[in-house]
Amino acid sequence: MTTAPAYDLVLTGGTLLDPAQGIHDRRDIAFKGGVVAEVATRIDTATARISVDATGKLITPGLIDLHGHFYHGGNASAVHADQICLSSGTTTGIDAGSAGCLNYPAMRDYVFPAHRTRLLAFLHVSGVGLANNALLGGGLHDMRMIDVDRTSDAIKENPGFCFGVKVRMHTNAVAAWNAHEAMRAARAVADQSGTRLMVHVSGTPIPLPDVLEFLGPGDICTHAFNGNPENILDRNFKIRPEVRTAVDRGVIMDVAHAGVHCDVKVAQAALEQGLPPTTISTDIHNPPPGRTVYKMNDLVSKFHAMGMTLPEAVAASTSAPAKILGLESAIGSLAPGMCGDAAVFDMREGNFKWMDMAGNNQEGKVRLDTFLTVRGGQVAWREGRLLEMGEC
Ligand SMILES: [Zn+2]
Repeated sequence: MTTAPAYDLVLTGGTLLDPAQGIHDRRDIAFKGGVVAEVATRIDTATARISVDATGKLITPGLIDLHGHFYHGGNASAVHADQICLSSGTTTGIDAGSAGCLNYPAMRDYVFPAHRTRLLAFLHVSGVGLANNALLGGGLHDMRMIDVDRTSDAIKENPGFCFGVKVRMHTNAVAAWNAHEAMRAARAVADQSGTRLMVHVSGTPIPLPDVLEFLGPGDICTHAFNGNPENILDRNFKIRPEVRTAVDRGVIMDVAHAGVHCDVKVAQAALEQGLPPTTISTDIHNPPPGRTVYKMNDLVSKFHAMGMTLPEAVAASTSAPAKILGLESAIGSLAPGMCGDAAVFDMREGNFKWMDMAGNNQEGKVRLDTFLTVRGGQVAWREGRLLEMGEC
């Protein structure tokens, strides 16, 4: 008689970096039934259906991307989440306003369930999200696009899928005449739905302090390290006092790097003045030709190269976003009982360069190169191969 294996999967020999548990040490990790079953110095691989040797590699909780665009097929610029996320060690992606109250059901019912990556959403304050971006550049020039009650009802009716509301303070989406009104509407949606507000601040037509006034604890200032006018620094490259005040009251400073929304000099000045990003995120989308957007593994590497310690950069990509979403008891850590989402990286050593919006290169010696991604306790991606698609 054969006995059933105790575990579905065991990773052996790797170094676990799990900031939520305060672990940065050699550990074996076992998964069963979709969750983390055991974390120990040694776990017998004979007890596992599948074991993977991770000797010399770095194991982290599955990365969480707080700002991406995953309404694949719904927007021209949205990416295929499994190809982008799983290949970068990312197991949870949050769509930042690709859809609004009028067009989110197809994202919830057809697009997200067709992926293995855990996908969650912020709804756009515009009723159609980014669907009209190519024609109207962000779409709030006509304020009839905003329906506060419908948007807040949609968010309230979808707990576990909708986590807040997104608004874009960018000159191609709003102008000085209606930016405050759009902020008031987005604030009202967040308050009525009892969730949180994510604001795109790069390229704002109104002063940044005006925007920050609308944000409270847990609200998200996304593209926080952009180098456009009205960024977080004053003309002497010092953090503006209103930015400090916002951070002190708990406003989240999120990277959302994209191709043009993060300036190395701004980020470095912020780091030097004790204002690191709360969260590292991609704003991943299909960019226009000639523009580079980075996936999570490269952004963790880039901010590590900029001076964040590896535990700080990993915390900003795992435990910090989990807490902001109120999901810290399920994701963002590999403590026993948590969701079985993990990333395994080779720590490549060499001379690497990461670009930014302003033509500055950030150089670094270490790059996290994804070796394996575990989602729900199963190997979902390994060395260039997507192993199973989600169920349609
Ligand atoms: Zn975005």
